[in-house]
Amino acid sequence: MGGNRLFSTSSAYRSITRDGSSSSNGLWNVSWRLNVLQRVRVFFWLLLHNKLLTNVERNCCHLTDVATCLVCGLGDETVDHVLRGCGCARRIWTNLVRNDRLQPFLSMPFTEWITVNIQDTGKMVSLEPVRPRLFSITCWVLWKRMCCLVLGSDSNCYGDVISFCRLFWDEVVSASSRNASNVRPRTGMCRLLPPRGWVKVNADGAVGGSPVMAASSGVICDEAGEWLLGFVHSIGSCSILCVELWAAFDSLSLAWQRGFRKVIIELDNMQVVLILNGETSALGDNFLVVRIKVLLVRQWDVPVRHIVREANKVADGLARLVRGEPIGEWFYDIPPL
Ligand SMILES: [Zn+2]
Repeated sequence: MGGNRLFSTSSAYRSITRDGSSSSNGLWNVSWRLNVLQRVRVFFWLLLHNKLLTNVERNCCHLTDVATCLVCGLGDETVDHVLRGCGCARRIWTNLVRNDRLQPFLSMPFTEWITVNIQDTGKMVSLEPVRPRLFSITCWVLWKRMCCLVLGSDSNCYGDVISFCRLFWDEVVSASSRNASNVRPRTGMCRLLPPRGWVKVNADGAVGGSPVMAASSGVICDEAGEWLLGFVHSIGSCSILCVELWAAFDSLSLAWQRGFRKVIIELDNMQVVLILNGETSALGDNFLVVRIKVLLVRQWDVPVRHIVREANKVADGLARLVRGEPIGEWFYDIPPL
């Protein structure tokens, strides 16, 4: 109970954790204070609680016959191996860490490695002054990449991992600076208006339901942020990456047909952004990628940008609106919600 002798969740938590384990609690608090997206913080919280499931853990639980790493096959797949020991991870850290710090960075005890780098006490990752942020994002991307492989998704799901980390990092830094300027403090994310004479398209896709169905969607806004047009395309059954590509293709096609020639397109799928900006060769022969690239080289200005998922909620909501409907397209001159 709290000081007012009333029961509350926070007073119960304080009572349970009043056991002198302040040092580990302090470390967990550090993970919550990381200036990154919530999903990255949750990843570190799970990591610090030893809740991440690797092949070693799965093997112990008889969920798999192999404990080795699926990427390199050269060692047991522990969290340390995925984030630091695997060849792919080592190549990435070699690019990010100062040469004179690389050896201790790669060889220090794992818990100390995490502790030092998310608290910025080791000053090892070279891109100052955002070392903990870059470190945490890189760890998260390495973990997601391994999950893609284990779960049977595209094993090259992030293409060039370093490009992905840098682009994602830029986006987080940009969102943080916009938050710092209090452009839109209520949501914690900012939707910037396009420059004068431009329109902006927010595109997204959604997959779900039973049976699993997919829908792409897009919203075109003018320079004042006013709704010009929205659409939803019920596609049927396809993967999340495929529906994100459909969202880009449908949005660009619609913007071109309506005569817009200065169009910013924003997507929250980093892999699609990397593909469309030519920063990875992944899916180069995919028919949708080919068709989108044909659209992009027409006579118009159409930068492709990444935004965090939390800033793309309108397009996401539209896509969910018709998921499961028969295959078809719907257009909205005014917001349907
Ligand atoms: Zn490995």
